Amino acid sequence: MTSQDPALPWYKEGLRFKCTECGKCCTGAPGFVWITQEEMEAMARHLAISVDLFKRRYVRIRNNRLCLVEKKSENNACIFLEGKRCQIYQVRPKQCRTFPWWKENLHSEESWNVAARDCEGINDEAPIVPLSQITEQLEKSHT
Ligand code: SF4
Ligand code: SF4
Repeated sequence: MTSQDPALPWYKEGLRFKCTECGKCCTGAPGFVWITQEEMEAMARHLAISVDLFKRRYVRIRNNRLCLVEKKSENNACIFLEGKRCQIYQVRPKQCRTFPWWKENLHSEESWNVAARDCEGINDEAPIVPLSQITEQLEKSHT
């Protein structure tokens, strides 16, 4: 493949991003942090509590899927956001790990620019993340 390959995505030269850990993507509506059963078990283990207790404290069901509870009084921040820090960072769900490399953000240059409005880590000063890394994260985000 060459860089002229028309099959390559619009971001073939990579995209500029470096997380500033501002915490904004863990806050605000609308939005859901979807989790799998396995992720829930890993988070419960990390917190040294039972899965049942974890579910009661931190999980709600939406459209028959599991998602993390939000703190309504704090601009719908994720239940695990304290200040700007994720309290379960090592075991955070895949959805969080793969942001901003989601299909909807990478769909077009325009959608990427829309994502940049809410994520200060996407900016012209940030280092370039190569295509290979973006592709890897994108694949992880929807598997
Ligand atoms: S909004 Fe962007 S820069 Fe801020 S914490 Fe989330 S990924 Fe990082
Ligand atoms: S689990 Fe952590 S990284 Fe994910 S939204 Fe909540 S605070 Fe943010």
